[in-house]
Amino acid sequence: MIDPFGRRISYLRVSVTDRCDLRCVYCMAEDMAFLPKREVLTLEELDRLCGAFIGLGVEKIRLTGGEPLVRKNVIQLFRSLGARIGAQGENGGLKELTVTTNGTQLAHMAEDLYAAGVRRINVSLDTLDPATFKAMTRWGEIGKTLDGIFAARAAGLAVKINAVALKGVNEGEYDRMLAWCGEHGFDLCLIETMPMGEINEDRTDQYLPLSLVRSRLREHWTLEETDYRTGGPARYYTVRETGRRIGFITPMTHNFCESCNRVRLTCTGTLYMCLGQEDSADFRPLLRDPSVDDAALQAAIRTAIARKPKGHDFIIDRGHNRPSIGRHMSVTGG
Ligand code: SAM
Ligand code: SF4
Repeated sequence: MIDPFGRRISYLRVSVTDRCDLRCVYCMAEDMAFLPKREVLTLEELDRLCGAFIGLGVEKIRLTGGEPLVRKNVIQLFRSLGARIGAQGENGGLKELTVTTNGTQLAHMAEDLYAAGVRRINVSLDTLDPATFKAMTRWGEIGKTLDGIFAARAAGLAVKINAVALKGVNEGEYDRMLAWCGEHGFDLCLIETMPMGEINEDRTDQYLPLSLVRSRLREHWTLEETDYRTGGPARYYTVRETGRRIGFITPMTHNFCESCNRVRLTCTGTLYMCLGQEDSADFRPLLRDPSVDDAALQAAIRTAIARKPKGHDFIIDRGHNRPSIGRHMSVTGG
């Protein structure tokens, strides 16, 4: 699948639920309204749709959410997708299945994920301080996420820690987190906060440019440029002192759209061709219409890809007190 700007689309992110057991301040309002069940695709519908994308050249699938691991029986979807890894199709087939999670369920799910074919996972952990963790997630206990992270490592999963950088909240912690990740064998990825969804907080107070964070880190660490890519938007450096990597995702200070290879599917079957634009395509009616076969489904996917926009234009400033994008990150899948 090649989009109108010559980018090959090989990466599908799938939000399997909009629900979550946490309420991170940058992601959700505390009193979120969630989708009724009938609007959410079944695990079988999600598997079929993912299969159609794989047939068109998608090589990497990341399950996300909401919190993907709180969806009932989600491990079945991991298993059915995992069974597609390495199966050669017309377009090469699925190469990698991965997940982004807050880690709360990993203590009891890590081994099953590994058995299903997952080898690398991203776990969101914005802080190592229990009180800050509680403040940032509103409902979370850090111990549960830490137990999950170590269970994942013990199960053989490579762990990357994702941390959203928030001014004045976890701003003083990145040195410590880099050292901790080095000590335990995890890569770290810092993310700039993006203006998505109403969260009942002022985002101009939260925004911290990572260019500043990077130059501060360089006071204590040697960050060596690398051309390491994971197929995602992060720019990576090797930390000489630890041998691990640190990545920076900077949608606000650096436009990463030129090399965008991905599209995002929501749990209702809506495809967003760009995280930062509203245009979408709805596949649920097709999935629920018995007269629509896989070839017709794939034709609809191609039509949607042909509308992929050139890029996003996120803005956080005092002149815009509405989010740039109305839907929450938990809907589109981070
Ligand atoms: N619940 C899972 C988790 O927290 O990892 C997966 C879904 S979450 C929406 C995916 C990623 O998006 C997380 O790393 C989260 O920190 C990030 N995220 C959520 N809202 C964001 C925002 N407004 N700006 C930047 N990153 C955000
Ligand atoms: Fe839940 Fe992840 Fe959003 Fe936090 S970032 S509220 S864990 S979906």
